[in-house]
Amino acid sequence: ADAAIDDLLEGLNPPQRDAVTHGEGPMLILAGAGSGKTRVITHRIAYLLRTQQARPSEILAITFTNKAAAEMRERVELLVGRATRAMWVMTFHAACARMLRAHAEKLGFTRQFTIYDSADQRRLMKQCLDNRGIDTKRYTPRAMQSQISTSKNKLISPEQYAETVGSPFEEIVAEIYKDYNRELLRMNAMDFDDMLVNSVQLLEKHQDVRDNYSNQFRWVMVDEYQDTNHVQYRWLQLLTSEHRNLAVVGDDAQSIYSFRAADIRNILEFEEDYPDAHVVKLEQNYRSTQTILDAANALIANNRGQMPKHLWTDVGEGDPVRVREMADEHAEARWVTAEIQRLVDEGVSKSEIAVFYRTNAQARVLDEMLTRAGVGFQVIGGPKFYERAEVKDAIAYLTFLVNPQDATAFTRIANSPRRGIGQTSLSRVLGYANDTGLTVWDAAEGEVPGLTKAAKNAIGRFMDTMTALKERADENGPVAQLLDAVLHQSGYLDALHAERTIEAQGRIENLQELVSAASQYDMNAENGGSLDEFLQQTSLFADADNLREDDGLVTLMTMHNAKGLEFPIVFMIGMEEGQFPHSRSIEEGNIEEERRLAYVGLTRAMRQLTLSHARRRMGYGGGASPAVKSRFLDELPRELTDQPARISRGFPAPGRVASWSQAAAASAEYAGGDTNDAALFNVGDDVVHAQLGEGVVTGLQPGGIVVVRFAGEGRDRSLMADVAPIRKR
Ligand code: ATP
Ligand code: MG
Repeated sequence: ADAAIDDLLEGLNPPQRDAVTHGEGPMLILAGAGSGKTRVITHRIAYLLRTQQARPSEILAITFTNKAAAEMRERVELLVGRATRAMWVMTFHAACARMLRAHAEKLGFTRQFTIYDSADQRRLMKQCLDNRGIDTKRYTPRAMQSQISTSKNKLISPEQYAETVGSPFEEIVAEIYKDYNRELLRMNAMDFDDMLVNSVQLLEKHQDVRDNYSNQFRWVMVDEYQDTNHVQYRWLQLLTSEHRNLAVVGDDAQSIYSFRAADIRNILEFEEDYPDAHVVKLEQNYRSTQTILDAANALIANNRGQMPKHLWTDVGEGDPVRVREMADEHAEARWVTAEIQRLVDEGVSKSEIAVFYRTNAQARVLDEMLTRAGVGFQVIGGPKFYERAEVKDAIAYLTFLVNPQDATAFTRIANSPRRGIGQTSLSRVLGYANDTGLTVWDAAEGEVPGLTKAAKNAIGRFMDTMTALKERADENGPVAQLLDAVLHQSGYLDALHAERTIEAQGRIENLQELVSAASQYDMNAENGGSLDEFLQQTSLFADADNLREDDGLVTLMTMHNAKGLEFPIVFMIGMEEGQFPHSRSIEEGNIEEERRLAYVGLTRAMRQLTLSHARRRMGYGGGASPAVKSRFLDELPRELTDQPARISRGFPAPGRVASWSQAAAASAEYAGGDTNDAALFNVGDDVVHAQLGEGVVTGLQPGGIVVVRFAGEGRDRSLMADVAPIRKR
């Protein structure tokens, strides 16, 4: 036999080898995390090529992200020792786009059709709503888009949708769905979901095209099959029902995309669709320690109807799962940052470390803390907190309130949310300011020549709102309250609420997080700090990106984005009820999907896993509210964690603690003595504050306040000891 083939099979265990060498016919590889499912696909492709059962052009391998596709191609090329450009290793969307380019005419499009991104989609949606004279404040383009997208992913046509409407909202969706699709066709455009829907139509309606592709792709493989939705399922059926060489790999315990209409039944019913399917179970995990695996298995056992799996590993028992309780999210972020610094000092590369959280908003405090500490990090799947559009919008509002000349801020916010102030009107205002030497603010309030009546009214209303806010700002009250007023009175929050999408929900959470940041600032600054100073501080966070990448970067990401990846060291933060499981899922009774998400998170860890939660967390109103630790923590067997038994004794509620120092001392002990907590401060201590520099502790007050005299200012400031960015020198 070919020595290279032996080499290829060398690094596989018997069931993996079985899957890799399986010949014709359907195959289901159902296996737990880290058992080598993705590795099997890569090796299988290489094996088919090596043994000349397949030519590269006969292979279609579907991955979940472009990044995963690139990695898979690279691995295969390494294994077979040559470039294999003719293989289709890509996402569903990329594969569909290619097919459609080749056959667009058959569906009434031309080859040059455009693909609409979500901004384009919304614009067109808005146009459709306007054409029918529908109030776009009540029925937002985004809400329409979300409904229509879900329908498309379930292969529900406009006609079918119309047959099942049950509410006035749905009636409107039905009309708009029809209009929207007609308009897309007229404009020779497809949206993202159409890539799949239209490919399915192409294959359904055109036997010759279907035969063509199903003959070409003799070998089809799909990774992360548990997260495919109905339209993707149908697409695969059309391509493979003839030769039936479809191999899918997945893990029902890791299905986390039901909100994108992914259907776990696809995997559960594969055996029904293909009764003769070759089923392979992989049970050896090569990624994690036994302790981490046991913890993950114990957690997922709380879900009903899991397919039974027995994962084991010979990596060894490893360390207990670390569970840490912190005073609040700041103590948590500070502790995680300190831990990362300690690990890096010990020689761990930053690229080996990842921090996961449930929602993007939770990354804000850690983002700031790592930035301050100069620890290089990257945020996967989205911009860093202060670079997010909604955060920039909110900051721009505040900026315009303090700086009436700031044309950039004005342009950014004047029509966000939409108020009917178009680009032309904005240019007129800016031009008028230039010509007259007025500030943008005054110009906008003045008699700008050339404005339509409608634009004039819209700008007038906008400036009325801003003037009211300005009066508030001039009172120099807490920044958090001002920001809160901005978000409400500008209509910004209302617009997001009206969208009724998961994405909008995430943006609302980010804005709530920004209000928390402002409250924090208010509390730290003596007599309430100024708005100027707050804006200065945030701009520092916003452009702290000039980091050295010598030793890789720590990775921050949501658990959704962590799918398929692995890291030697994993932190999961914010393990609290309402955060994770997310309050929305609790309300909707969708705990099992949250638990699967937790399972995904836990099983990314190779060597060390740390879970943390806070006793209180800053709420939207600015007040800190008590937080309950996540049920998922309780579901981990105590003996697998390092949680000391004394935790069950309970911790005195803040109100009942006799003195601050007693509480802080207890808190430091409680967290295993690892926290950088305030109990450690004594009168006379030399301290350093991240912004204010060096000082000395001159007093301790009830409520966790330390009084510090800063050398630079020569006066005392009262600070919240456990949240202010101070440490002992
Ligand atoms: P997930 O469910 O998280 O997607 P997976 O089942 O796809 O996991 P892989 O990512 O393929 O698992 O493999 C997990 C790790 O184990 C990888 O680092 C992989 O290289 C390694 N691995 C898998 N099988 C073997 C093997 N037979 N020998 C050595 N290492 C292996
Ligand atoms: Mg995988």
